[in-house]
Amino acid sequence: PRLVRDAAYTYVRPESFEKTELVGVSKAALRDLAIDPSTTETEDFKDTVAGEKIITLEDGQEPRDKDVYPWAQCYGGYQFGQWAGQLGDGRAISLFETTNPSTGVRYELQLKGAGKTPYSRFADGRAVVRSSIREFVVSEALNALGIPSTRALSLTLAPESKVRRERTEPGAIVARFAQSWLRIGTFDLPRSRGDRATIRKLAAYAGEEVFGGWDNLPAKLKSNEGQDLLEPGSGVSRDDLQGENEFQENRFTRLYREVARRNAKMVAWWQAYAFTNGVLNTDNTSIFGLSIDFGPFAFLDNFDPNYTPNHDDHMLRYSYKNQPSIIWWNLVRLGESLGELIGAGSRCDEKEFVEEGVSKDFADELVKRAETLIEQTGEEYKAVFMAEYKRLMTARLGLKQCKDSDFDTLYSELLDTLEALELDFNHFFRRLSYISTEDLDTEEKRKEAAGLFFHKDGLSGLVASESDARTRLGKWLGLWRERIIEDWPNSPESREERFQAMRAVNPKFIPRSWILDEVIERVEKKGERDVLGRVMEMALNPFQESWGGDKEEEERFCGDVPKYQRAMQCSCSS
Ligand code: AMP
Ligand code: MG
Ligand code: MG
Repeated sequence: PRLVRDAAYTYVRPESFEKTELVGVSKAALRDLAIDPSTTETEDFKDTVAGEKIITLEDGQEPRDKDVYPWAQCYGGYQFGQWAGQLGDGRAISLFETTNPSTGVRYELQLKGAGKTPYSRFADGRAVVRSSIREFVVSEALNALGIPSTRALSLTLAPESKVRRERTEPGAIVARFAQSWLRIGTFDLPRSRGDRATIRKLAAYAGEEVFGGWDNLPAKLKSNEGQDLLEPGSGVSRDDLQGENEFQENRFTRLYREVARRNAKMVAWWQAYAFTNGVLNTDNTSIFGLSIDFGPFAFLDNFDPNYTPNHDDHMLRYSYKNQPSIIWWNLVRLGESLGELIGAGSRCDEKEFVEEGVSKDFADELVKRAETLIEQTGEEYKAVFMAEYKRLMTARLGLKQCKDSDFDTLYSELLDTLEALELDFNHFFRRLSYISTEDLDTEEKRKEAAGLFFHKDGLSGLVASESDARTRLGKWLGLWRERIIEDWPNSPESREERFQAMRAVNPKFIPRSWILDEVIERVEKKGERDVLGRVMEMALNPFQESWGGDKEEEERFCGDVPKYQRAMQCSCSS
């Protein structure tokens, strides 16, 4: 293992496989990267996403304003709460950055599984087919659901290659892209080495390059009376924030708060759509607030707050219900890394900080001073999380507004009911999107409608009687009906409008673990290819009714999760 100091990346050339086959390209990715779909037929494209060809000055091109050569990033991380030292891109190599000319969004494109880097430690730099299919599909599925995520452009298989895991498996390369691949772990590593200069450079790079300039990072100051400064009507402008206030909240604090807000929103989406990452180490937490690193992830099937998709997560640290607090735990590590910069206030630009470096004692004092700002950011994190979660759940339930009482009476009661009756979380909301208030206007009808949410093969043996289940869920449907009547006019048009609004936020298709397993089996073992394209079409358009593929297969993939394939777990080896 090579320790790489005073740097955040290393140039490294990808290494392809002997024989490769491009088996999947995401149409949505082509759009976002502004790549003409016909390009994907060319050898140029295939070779690039397979790690065979790099775009660099070597190829006899005219020099551009910046030299380009592939690189791997250096980072560390806290794994399961313990400092794990230097990690880094052990099997990811970035090829170049590219800006979509119409949206102006810049992406960093990288290959996963294209060979060793200085950060591979004892591993081989490769990725197997099963984990690559999982990452390819879920990255694009999350994005299509509206969840901030790193993306996947293509999947290339090396069917004849031999990658050693518990067994020998074929390898694959995913070409993936993101606005930034920086992680909290990117900052953890220099901090662990007391390398304050690198932290400062990284923070400046994040503010200026990743977020596109410090002006994009809003201040959120409170006056002594607790009033939000900079809010409309507060009478405070950005110019006023120099001086006294700037001392409290300099640009590094604004950066920190932006990272916290983005992650708060992202994890609110995870909770609202029941997505679990499974390995929320600090190296798997994005500075840009993206879902990142898809190992043993899963969507919940039956609603179970204690579910973790990670077979090795015995303490349930990364369970569904813990995700918001774990992301905050990780953000506190970032706050500590930035502590000296945050705590220095407006003095952060003084020579003492920039060139000479303050004494160890003074630095410690500044980190201490930053604690208050980190705590305040924690309050903001909670508020942003709750607001976003409420907004998403309100939409999923087909309501126009969230009343104070909704949280307890409607949301909590629903979650308790889903848990107690062991019902499927995402199917519940989609099926609710077809029910009218007339379907629920008597107790009898409500009990009848409750059955729509039960698994076809019956309620779990642990649930009380079916009649109790119908009574409980029927009661909730009655509450929900009253809220719908409050929020929507009583007309056929508005009913239709509500149906459409609900179906636009409640997906019919979710890439569950059992579906991904079936795709893996068919692609890897049976040599099928088309099924991957069909599932990608569903993943990219999850709110549609049908996708023009194999009708029977589509209904099966959107139907009940087979009884013995619910709440599956995955090991980390990939
Ligand atoms: P993860 O658990 O996916 O967050 O990975 C943790 C660290 O292990 C990262 O630094 C990865 O790059 C590295 N890693 C995982 N698998 C491999 C592999 N097969 N070859 C090289 N590095 C790997
Ligand atoms: Mg990782
Ligand atoms: Mg990983």
